[in-house]
Parts: sequence; C-alpha cells; structure tokens
Amino acid sequence: MSAWDPALRCTNCGRQSPEGGLPFRCPACGGLFDLSEPLHFLAPGPAGHGLSRFGGSLPLPPDVELPSLGEGGTPLVPASFDGRRVYFKCEQLNPTGSFKDRGSAVLLAALQAAGVRHAVEDSSGNAGASLAAYAARAGLPVRIFVPDSTAGPKQAQIAAYGAEVVRILGPRSETAKAVLRAAEAGAVYASHIYLPFGLAGIATLAYELVEQLGAAPGAVILPVGHGTLLLGLHRGFQAMLQAGAIRRLPQLLGVQARACAPLWAVEQAGAVGLGWVREGETQAEGIRILQPLRGDAVLQAVAASGGRMIAVEEAEIEAGVTALAGRGLWVEPTSAVVWAALRKELTSLPDPVVLVLTGSGFKATTQTTAHISSAEQPAEVTRQAAKPSPVPGV
Ligand SMILES: [Zn+2]
Repeated sequence: MSAWDPALRCTNCGRQSPEGGLPFRCPACGGLFDLSEPLHFLAPGPAGHGLSRFGGSLPLPPDVELPSLGEGGTPLVPASFDGRRVYFKCEQLNPTGSFKDRGSAVLLAALQAAGVRHAVEDSSGNAGASLAAYAARAGLPVRIFVPDSTAGPKQAQIAAYGAEVVRILGPRSETAKAVLRAAEAGAVYASHIYLPFGLAGIATLAYELVEQLGAAPGAVILPVGHGTLLLGLHRGFQAMLQAGAIRRLPQLLGVQARACAPLWAVEQAGAVGLGWVREGETQAEGIRILQPLRGDAVLQAVAASGGRMIAVEEAEIEAGVTALAGRGLWVEPTSAVVWAALRKELTSLPDPVVLVLTGSGFKATTQTTAHISSAEQPAEVTRQAAKPSPVPGV
C-alpha cells in the first residue's frame, strides 16, 4: 500500500504540502500547515464508544485504523454554582489523564497512514505522555523532549510508555528550540501544534458536548496555552453549524495564567500587549506558553464566538484546585484555572455553561496535595506550607 499524502496547505504562502515526508512546516516559507478543507461533521452511528464513533468526521483515509485506547466519551457532570447549573466536561478521565488523547489518536493514525516509522515531539508533559501512549499502541518509536521542570509523575508516565525522554534545562521555550534542532536534522516532528490533525480529534469534544446537552452550550470555559483545545473545539462547533446540527456558536472563554498570558495581553492591548508578557512561573505548567504558534487563529476563533480571554492569578489557581476537589473533581492546577474564570464571568454568560477539565490531579500530586493540605491546616502552618516553589526546578 502506498503512503497517504494528507491535504495540507501553508497558512502563510498558500502552497500545498509537498508529497511524501510529512514536513512539520512549509519548506518554502516556514509557515504553519493547516488542513486544506474545513472539518465536515457527520452524525455518528449508534455503535462504538467515544472518539471512534466520529470516525466519519475525521480527515483521514477511509481505510485507516485508529490506534484507539478508548479516548473520548467522557462524562459531563452537572453541578450548581451561585444558583445556576453548570457542567464539567471531565477530559481528565481520558486514557492518559488529559484531553490530549483525542488529538493523539488522530495524529498517530495520520502518521501511520503517511508511512512514518519513528518521530520526535516536545511537551510540557500531558501531550508527551499522550503521544507516548498512542505511539506505544501504534508500535511507533518516539523520542520526547520535556522541560526538566516538568512534574515528576508526567516524566515518569512518558518513560513508562517506552518513549525515549530527553530532559532540557531552562524554561519551556528551550525545549521547543531543542526539538526544532532535531527536526532540522531530519527527524519527523510529530508535533501536536505544528501538525493540524489533532485539531480534528479535539473537535469531537464539541460533537460530544452537543450530544450530551441535547443542544449547543451557551458558553465554554477552558484553559489556553497554545490554544489547540480552543481551536479544535471552535472548529467542531463550526462544522456542526455548517451541517445544521446546531443553530449558534457557543461563546469560548480562554483562560491563561496571569504569569504567562500572551493571548490575553494581545486581546487587552493589541500587539503592544506583548511588550509586557513574560514566561513567568506558574503552577499551571501546561499553559505556560510564551509564543502560541497558532495565536492569531485562536484569537480569531475567540472573537468569532463572541467570547474573550481571561487571566487568573496564582492564588486563584490554588483556590480552584481546592474548590474543584471539594466537589469530587481531582484536577491539576492547569485545569483549575477555569474555576476562577467561572467566578468572574458567570453572570454574563448564557446557559448552559460548560467548563472543560483538561488534566488529572494525579499528574501533579506534589502541587495538588500541597494546596489541599495547606487549606486544611492552621494559619501558621499554612504560611510555611505555601512557601516552596510550586514548580520544582525552575
Ligand atoms: Zn509557505
């Protein structure tokens, strides 16, 4: 069987991707590739579970087999907040503990169809763990670059799946540079950011939400680093609108940690806002992204949805971890940013409001247990417990 050539187009110069090899960016101008066609939503059949039910809506060759681990089909848990009913979409319950599994299943299927034999990737943790698991499922050897500061459980998880782990000192941006050097030396860069296949997997989150609610959400609150979750969700809702399956696009509220909030800053102040953005320390390590690669597209999606960007402080993130755990929802600090955003924004949002919980609390046990235990202790002890840096090694 000859290798599949995916239909990709450069977002900068408009050229089609060259045949064979699957370059991670446009060889002519360095621009990002995107899918040549918008996503098409097809109503799923009754058989199957989770993401695999939406196979007809994925931009893959028809005979491809998804390297599935049972991703998707996550619970939508209702709760009351300030007299309103809100919903938590529990993406932390995916096979590797984060929403990234939706993208990884589709990305690995695309890599296999394109005849890729081994690959490299970089990640602050969740994407690396997810890619490593799906690569193991697909039998594809991978090398994954991670910041040395990544929480221990995440690094251990990546290694346990059999991936080769390369630890890089310094901030997240140094890891991104290291993997680019490997890609320029000839490795296939199976990037969940540069390659657009995963966005189609994440779009299935939109399809599920509409199915579970019986209608489109009024608003969705979600964490934003590179913004692939927001972009995939928006494209899913757009595809459903186009297909007549929903009548309106939900407002998308993208949440960043104030310590590193480039998209929020641009929305507040335009390009000038980037002048005061720093790669500051934050417990929300999964969204500590100084230069979101598809930032323009993310901000366009937010605007098209009638939504906005929100920045939250570290103390608010800590309070979010505790408040969510107090409702039986055990998530990592990156996920907990949505709680503070809900508190700030709920009065202005149309029902039903959905919060996406992106990653499991088991991923960051040092951070999450520090918050919970300090919240239960007397004030003097709390002050001491709150001192150590929540991000080890930074
Ligand atoms: Zn180009």
